[in-house]
Amino acid sequence: MDFSFTKKEEEFRQELRTWLEENLPEGWIEGTSKLPTDEGEYAKFLRNWQRKLYEGGWAAIAWPEKYGGRKASLMEEIIYHQEMVRVKAPPLVNYVGIHMVGPTLMQIGTEEQQEKFIQKILTGEEVWCQGYSEPNAGSDVAAIQTTAVKDGDRWIINGQKVWTSFGHIADRCFLVARTNRFEKKHHGITVFLLDMNQPGVETRPIIQMDGQHDFNEVYLNDAVAYDAEIIGKVDEGWHVIIALLMHERTGIGAQVFTLEQQFNELAALAKDLKEDGEPLISKPLIRKSMVDLYTRSRGSLLNYY
Ligand SMILES: Cc1cc2nc3c(=O)[nH]c(=O)nc-3n(C[C@H](O)[C@H](O)[C@H](O)COP(=O)(O)OP(=O)(O)OC[C@H]3O[C@@H](n4cnc5c(N)ncnc54)[C@H](O)[C@@H]3O)c2cc1C
Repeated sequence: MDFSFTKKEEEFRQELRTWLEENLPEGWIEGTSKLPTDEGEYAKFLRNWQRKLYEGGWAAIAWPEKYGGRKASLMEEIIYHQEMVRVKAPPLVNYVGIHMVGPTLMQIGTEEQQEKFIQKILTGEEVWCQGYSEPNAGSDVAAIQTTAVKDGDRWIINGQKVWTSFGHIADRCFLVARTNRFEKKHHGITVFLLDMNQPGVETRPIIQMDGQHDFNEVYLNDAVAYDAEIIGKVDEGWHVIIALLMHERTGIGAQVFTLEQQFNELAALAKDLKEDGEPLISKPLIRKSMVDLYTRSRGSLLNYY
């Protein structure tokens, strides 16, 4: 297969490169400026960065023009991720909103929901998280135990989510809950566009071994969602869940290119560092691990292509 880029695609790359040079936070390219460590400052910094991307027309390039995107091709999306990773650009705080929730709203959401949410996703005004996984429902999402019970035009939600990326920053959650216990496993599930800023939602951090905080547990204690915040049909949320996951697949470019970049940095380090006067890269054990890592990261990249 030929993965080389056309002249037009290379022009697109150049346009983005120029924009990044002019718009990345001061000192970013030189490596003198970094992400803030204070959580409040971190969230503010990332929201500002997304606002800048939005103003430059670079926040959601694959979205249709009608919604504020530039209808980029798949190859342009690949180039976009390559360039963002190359300059180690700050992460997209509304990753879930841009790559997953926004496109799903365009596909399945009501006109009212599209009007209410899509623009704010693009600008970063409303950050989204994804409430699928639970302590006993990972790969098997249909095993969820979080419940939503109807009460007039409201739904009362109880349960627990886990691994919720950006949950501590998010304003809204694409939340999956069981609404009918008597249906078969993949029926009786409904998807809510839940407001995170309410007393019934408690977010607890999961701190990673490197000290970073990306994930959360989210506890729902009589949290409230309204009929108008249901996407798709009541009890028939399974196809909504799948629709969002299909969009999630195309959003993984940044991770794939980051893996490739980290491998290259590791290889350079293994050539530089020495043990008993020999570069580490010459040691059979190191070489074996590195070949293994290369094979996996290359496999991910080709799979993504
Ligand atoms: C970086 C990252 C960010 C995430 N962010 C979010 C988020 O924002 N929101 C959210 O809801 N979730 C999130 N998740 C969770 C993720 O999407 C999966 O739901 C979760 O990682 C898988 O569930 P689990 O950890 O319980 O593993 P399990 O489902 O228990 O799987 C454990 C292992 O068993 C294997 N396995 C499972 N079932 C089978 C089977 N039937 N046959 C053979 N093998 C099987 C799996 O492949 C895996 O190797 C995130 C995960 C990661 C890694």
